[in-house]
Amino acid sequence: MDYDAELKLFVDGAWRAGEGRDAQPVIDPARGAAIAEVPLASAADLEQALVAADAGFRAWRATDVEARAAILHKAAALLRERTERIATLLTLEQGKPLVEARGEVAGAAQLFDYYAEEAKRAYGRVLVRPTGTRSIVIRQPAGPVASFTPWNFPVYLMAKKLAAALAAGCSVIAKPPEETPGSTSALMRAVIDAGVPGNVAQLVFGVPDTVSRTLIASPVIRKLSFTGSVPVGRHLMKLAADGLKLVTMELGGHAPVMVFADCDLERTLDMVVPQKFRNAGQVCVSPTRFHVERSIYDRFVAGFAARTAALSVGSGLDPATRMGPLANRRRPDAIEALVGDAVARGARVAHGGARFGQGFFFQPTVLADVPLDADVMSTEPFGPVALIRPFDSEEEAVAEANRLPYGLAAFAFTENGRRANRLGDMIEAGMIGINSFAISVVDAPFGGVKDSGFGREGGPEGLESYMVTKAIHQA
Ligand code: NAD
Repeated sequence: MDYDAELKLFVDGAWRAGEGRDAQPVIDPARGAAIAEVPLASAADLEQALVAADAGFRAWRATDVEARAAILHKAAALLRERTERIATLLTLEQGKPLVEARGEVAGAAQLFDYYAEEAKRAYGRVLVRPTGTRSIVIRQPAGPVASFTPWNFPVYLMAKKLAAALAAGCSVIAKPPEETPGSTSALMRAVIDAGVPGNVAQLVFGVPDTVSRTLIASPVIRKLSFTGSVPVGRHLMKLAADGLKLVTMELGGHAPVMVFADCDLERTLDMVVPQKFRNAGQVCVSPTRFHVERSIYDRFVAGFAARTAALSVGSGLDPATRMGPLANRRRPDAIEALVGDAVARGARVAHGGARFGQGFFFQPTVLADVPLDADVMSTEPFGPVALIRPFDSEEEAVAEANRLPYGLAAFAFTENGRRANRLGDMIEAGMIGINSFAISVVDAPFGGVKDSGFGREGGPEGLESYMVTKAIHQA
């Protein structure tokens, strides 16, 4: 695989690299070693991308919706055809097990198919008026979009923004993370090979602060969509405020999981353990704070630790691996500090607790009796750490679930339907899974409340977020 040679920017219809541009190493997280270099956009690249995005938008918005839909379906088909190659690149540069990488590519393809169809349903409405007059409400594409996506699901999260924005009729300048340039370039190649014009979908890598400042300051860009951390989200919103840009912010969480004594305990444990360690816990909706009713607490901790001990951890390229390395050096450093702090404050290590190997590996870790004042009970760990605490009443569990400023996902396990309804009403989160982790699905809105951000991706809401509403009154 000619990995290095394929790492390029895609600006105004041309793949670009070298020619004096700065470059940055790409690291294989399983070995901690550099495997390639990614070129970084120059000021001229960004300027040209903006001019192209402006022209691209004018042509794409005027393209018949059936034609746009056909191109998006073709992109989905190409992604499916190229699954093995894209998934291998993703595992190589991000670390996740191949089986998860294949699932991520499948999810990206599904997004393109879904939004190809949803584009046809950007309906307006007619308001009833006296004879001969009417008011019409229509929705139109918002304009050129700047999209910033992170390294945990580089393909899926970029596809989520790209598919919805292109379906709506917007042009997009995508900046995926510099850590995972191969898989995201492969996604962009599929989109371009499917027939999206080269000034409608563009790809840049660069110094994140320079790229975001330049794109957001440009009058060409009308919409900013960001997935990442709360501090960066705050910073980008301030930049967007100057130009009054539309904004979608998906900023991570610290998901509570309430486990009631009336749940099916063995089935619950079989579900929660693989979910906790999926993508080595680097998931914004990862189940993190396990609040367990006291009467089943000891059985829950023992069952959690036993299932965790059975996980096979190693290189994501090994088909037996169920958890790979963390994606970059920052993660094991952060997890080590958070686990050390929790243990110093009295948490009990039921499994794991240490880093290992040459790459960025950290053992899948189960901490029990974690005190509320441990940093990790308030700071998103974004790693393979489960935090378990007992509770005595539903009110206590709900209060604890709502304690943090985050409000992205929350989960509850109970066979009591009335309780499930109450929890659905009371929990402050954008998504709630009851006896289920299936909350990231193409046809439902995904997003947070409170510090987890605002705006929704997925479902009709995802299309709507790239559109503006216009009322036309005709007398
Ligand atoms: P970070 O806060 O530096 O970066 C978060 C993301 O924002 C990265 O993708 C990065 O490339 C991007 N970014 C950083 N500065 C930017 C700028 N000025 N303009 C545009 N983009 C910028 O931290 P990190 O070490 O990459 O990740 C750490 C934390 O971020 C995690 O602990 C987690 O809380 C959060 N995170 C959340 C998600 C999510 O899905 N919501 C994904 C990745 C990371």
